[in-house]
Amino acid sequence: MTLEEEYLDISFLKENGFVRKKCPKCGKYFWTAGDREICGDPPCGSYTFIDNSPFTRSFELSEMREFYLKFFEERNHARIGRYPVVARWRDDIYLTIASIADFQPFVTSGVAPPPANPLTISQPCIRLDDLESVGKTGRHLTLFEMMAHHAFNYPGKEIYWKNETVAYCTELLEKLGVKKEEIVYKEEPWAGGGNAGPCLEAIVRGLELATLVFMNLEASEDGDIVLKGERYRKMRNYIVDTGYGLERFVWMSKGSATVYDAIFDEVIDKIYTFSGMRELKNRDVRKLVAESTRLFGVGLPGDRIHAELAEKFEMDEKEVGEIIEAISKVYALADHTRCVLFMLGDGLVPSNAGAGYLARLMIKRCLRIAEELQLNAEIFDLIELHGKKLGVDFEISMEVIKEILELEKDRFRSTIEKGIKFVERIVEKKKRIGKEDLIEFYDSHGLPAELVAKIAREKGAEVESVDIYAELAKRHSRAEKEKKEIIKLQKSYPKTEKLYYENPKLFEFSAKVLGFENGYVILDRSAFYPESGGQESDVGYLLANGEKFRVSKVIDIDGVVLHRVEGLKEISGEVKGIIDEERRLRHMRHHSATHLLLYTLQKIYGKHIWQAGAKKEAEKARLDVTHYKKISEEEVRRIEEIVNKEVFANKPIQWFWMDRIEAEKKFGFRLYQGGVPPGREIRIVRVGDDVQACGGTHCSSTGEIGMIKILSVDSIQDGVIRFEFAVAEAALEAIAKMESLLKESSKILRVEPKVLPRTVERFFEEWKEQRKEIERLKEELSKLRGETLLRNAEEFNSVKVVVDVLDVDMKELLKLGEFLAKRGAVGCLMAKGEGKVFVVAFASGNYDAREIIKEVGSYAKGSGGGRKEIAQGALAVLPSREEVLGIVFEYLARKKG
Ligand SMILES: [Zn+2]
Ligand SMILES: [Zn+2]
Repeated sequence: MTLEEEYLDISFLKENGFVRKKCPKCGKYFWTAGDREICGDPPCGSYTFIDNSPFTRSFELSEMREFYLKFFEERNHARIGRYPVVARWRDDIYLTIASIADFQPFVTSGVAPPPANPLTISQPCIRLDDLESVGKTGRHLTLFEMMAHHAFNYPGKEIYWKNETVAYCTELLEKLGVKKEEIVYKEEPWAGGGNAGPCLEAIVRGLELATLVFMNLEASEDGDIVLKGERYRKMRNYIVDTGYGLERFVWMSKGSATVYDAIFDEVIDKIYTFSGMRELKNRDVRKLVAESTRLFGVGLPGDRIHAELAEKFEMDEKEVGEIIEAISKVYALADHTRCVLFMLGDGLVPSNAGAGYLARLMIKRCLRIAEELQLNAEIFDLIELHGKKLGVDFEISMEVIKEILELEKDRFRSTIEKGIKFVERIVEKKKRIGKEDLIEFYDSHGLPAELVAKIAREKGAEVESVDIYAELAKRHSRAEKEKKEIIKLQKSYPKTEKLYYENPKLFEFSAKVLGFENGYVILDRSAFYPESGGQESDVGYLLANGEKFRVSKVIDIDGVVLHRVEGLKEISGEVKGIIDEERRLRHMRHHSATHLLLYTLQKIYGKHIWQAGAKKEAEKARLDVTHYKKISEEEVRRIEEIVNKEVFANKPIQWFWMDRIEAEKKFGFRLYQGGVPPGREIRIVRVGDDVQACGGTHCSSTGEIGMIKILSVDSIQDGVIRFEFAVAEAALEAIAKMESLLKESSKILRVEPKVLPRTVERFFEEWKEQRKEIERLKEELSKLRGETLLRNAEEFNSVKVVVDVLDVDMKELLKLGEFLAKRGAVGCLMAKGEGKVFVVAFASGNYDAREIIKEVGSYAKGSGGGRKEIAQGALAVLPSREEVLGIVFEYLARKKG
């Protein structure tokens, strides 16, 4: 079926009086039951719902959401809860950008079944690509809720397809009061993320309310359907992917001037009341804003809009520009604070990398706008207000959100204080600041572009007028995949049976050799653990034909385990594998301890604690977690105490395979601390009360882990804390090492270890006193030296001339030079350093030390520079005192003459 036939195939439209027409303005096809000739989608039309809602009543966000979900529930759709805005189940994107993103990649590709079928959901989504339009256009939002109904169809099992989808949409709109004749279904094929399909946009009075995507194509090089320059072919399964904009529905129901006025009224009111915008609140600017929204809707550029508004309302164009600009900031702040609430509420910790980067970007933008608006309230106050109005549950408490925001505000302030001087310095060198410079200022120094632009302009530099935030968000929106070692195999092998899954204490096994490539042996089954999930690989031996070969490394390529074997020419038949038991046991203990430590940290600090990395070795392990502030020494002791209590409680450790969607439903996305495993079934590991999806090897109970000793806690980057710890025998070793350090130190000081701190403190105090005394004596000595030099000075035309070679360092040389210059002497001091000669020249009156050092330098292969009174440098050879004295005399004679 061609794309065109796909649309003609929707019998509901024809049966209900919809006619397919070609819009003479944009050339696209649309369906209408009315008598319109143009599609009406801006710029082919404009918003006609402002102050003129087609709905029979107005809705608040929660009312509209409930109306929608109930409508589909009554039509046999299961209502499912929202997913977090942080896409924890994805390893390619950080934020949830659409409701269908909840079901990618495993459900949409058919690997895993959907949580319900058909289903309905209202999913908060964050899209930062239009960041610069937010507040200005009247319709753009960074966070919006996508109400949706989805049906997942499989060959031989269709739930419903195009007809029912369009019928539902029509019925829903009619139920809200929209006449059938007012609905336009515009044909707009959709493509994204490797999938595509026909799509209808539902447009009412110029506003696109819903998008009905019929996802039935997948990208394929030899596909027969071409869409937006890419080739696609039919998929086996096909999906109803709809998106209804909750905020737009509320907006249409109220017919407000902007979407912001419709959904953020209380927050906007608060911003007006507590900012320099108070006066605007009392002015009647509604008509102006409504007209601005309409003009933005038809795609007019900003400056043209100001001109048109000025003409229409008989106002000064500059004044119009200022009013619209100020109001757009109020709107943007209202929008951004709600976005920050969802980001932090769903567990993001601001940082300079990864998903946290985007949270910090939004917080900084909020702080910046608040400053521009002279907001006399905290960002948190606005966020709290959003929270109250939304009626949405968040994992993170308001107290934690408040604390994070306070820390971010402090950080922002100090960054700016430090940054201003830096910007001034750079601007002096550069006369033009471009987009990449602004990005560099933000990414490397945390400086907002508006501030850099302001300082640069004050200093007379030219600044490129661009909004860099959307660009920054785009550059940081995709997760970087870990680069894996790539070994190309000649042949293809079946997935290796992994014996360690069932029995992590199996240290000997027999297996059949399937292949030998590039020094790697491939077996049909193996108990060797390949490096993964931060756990290092096993080592050991393979026994073949009575010979023993060392296995030095084990890796996993798409489920095939490769054993690196040293000194092997060929191998075949049956082999016996022997694993280094001690090493494996240490890995297991460290691995199980990592789960327990993470669980403990989450229990103490909250659910914003998320694993950011982990490594499990034989001697120690490390766990990186997201957290917004430093951890004190007392806190470390407390963590140690609690985590060890979990050990002593000797709780069972279990592992089992589970259906992915069932597991997500039961345990939540917290499962994916260590990453997202592929496949329909996932391996669940339960360590005490902690549950994670994990393929690692584990002890059988927490008691088997042994004592956990935290070795160090460091902040490795903003928002990420690294714990290093050792377990059981490794903990003993670490403690023994510390103890011997303590004993050695005690021995040196000849005291008992218990009095070490007091002794060290005493020694330290004494040492400080003595250092002061030495400094004082050095001063004294220097003065004496200077006096002596002066006393033995030569005289030339009643000027005291001092030239000498001394055995001191450069610092002392300079000090003496300063002293002599002050006393009116002229001359030169030298000292032998390593491979060169240090030289200091000094002068007073009309004489110039720089000139003297130049002349001495040209004589003794050297150079130097400094001030008129004192100059320093280095010489390649050491001239005699008399030679230099001669040079100085000549200089003085010439100067005089
Ligand atoms: Zn059109
Ligand atoms: Zn694990």
